[in-house]
Amino acid sequence: MIAEFLRRFRKKSPWVLHYNAGSCNGCDIEILASLAPKYDLERLGIRNTGNPKQSDIFLVTGPVTQRSRERLVELYTQIPEPKVVVACGSCTCTGGVFRGMYGSEDGIDRYIPVDVYIGGCAPHPEQIIDGLVQALEILEKKSKNVEQPKKLMGKISERDGGIDKTNMAGKL
Ligand code: SF4
Repeated sequence: MIAEFLRRFRKKSPWVLHYNAGSCNGCDIEILASLAPKYDLERLGIRNTGNPKQSDIFLVTGPVTQRSRERLVELYTQIPEPKVVVACGSCTCTGGVFRGMYGSEDGIDRYIPVDVYIGGCAPHPEQIIDGLVQALEILEKKSKNVEQPKKLMGKISERDGGIDKTNMAGKL
């Protein structure tokens, strides 16, 4: 019951952590444009946050520089499951114009798994919104997958006469 409640509202109000992994700022400006009143990303309930522990979607720009890769992985590990990673811009997907350069890591999927790729240099706000809508669908699917083992554990525990810790709050 509580899990169902959380899943419904997570999709309606996902929080996004935006990280610049060495971008030229072009993609970041387009992200800001999509949050501004003209495109109004917040109408989908999407909020930009600075705290990885409260985030659902990790939105990354830039080709990943050698100086930013550690932070990238650190932030990724701090975001709780279920989480969705969105690579925003050609640089983040493949290295783009920085591909092969001495300080560039040629995209984020060498370091963290990516769920949605948004191409373009820089991507248009409409593309960013489209990518984030795809991320919402993936987030909902991942939420269901995270809950399944918990439900299964609850059934096993009840059958064996053990204590079911998965729904303690609901039972009180
Ligand atoms: S994709 Fe283009 S706009 Fe975005 S960070 Fe790379 S060079 Fe800049």
